[in-house]
Amino acid sequence: MSHKIPEALRKTAFQRAFNRCEYCRLPALDSYYGFHVDHIRSIKHGGATSIENLACSCPDCNRNKGTDLGTFLDDDTELVRFYNPRKDVWDDHFEMDESGMIDHKTNIGAATVKIFQFNHPDRIIERRLLWPIGLLP
Ligand SMILES: [Zn+2]
Repeated sequence: MSHKIPEALRKTAFQRAFNRCEYCRLPALDSYYGFHVDHIRSIKHGGATSIENLACSCPDCNRNKGTDLGTFLDDDTELVRFYNPRKDVWDDHFEMDESGMIDHKTNIGAATVKIFQFNHPDRIIERRLLWPIGLLP
């Protein structure tokens, strides 16, 4: 969710993320729409507007995540939290290749791929264009 975030925090969040979405790794410079600074733990759920709780996010990831914190996987009754860029290592939970797909390695990865819609056809096409010119992964 977009929320009033002081400019200094926005700048720090973007710099720390090397101007990439911290969820799907899309580079900010190549996105038509402006990137967002996401509250990893949403304000609705008690998250603070502090650098430890902020993540640079592309519009698709930010919109699809909304204020959610996790989800249920298809055949399970246990809530699985989303990937947290402040606690988790991307390569531990996901992998990406020139096909444009982002595959999960863990349940946390699966929950994130599902709700953030990492593999929506438009997003796969965008990654296939960025991969050969070295802007991904
Ligand atoms: Zn993203």
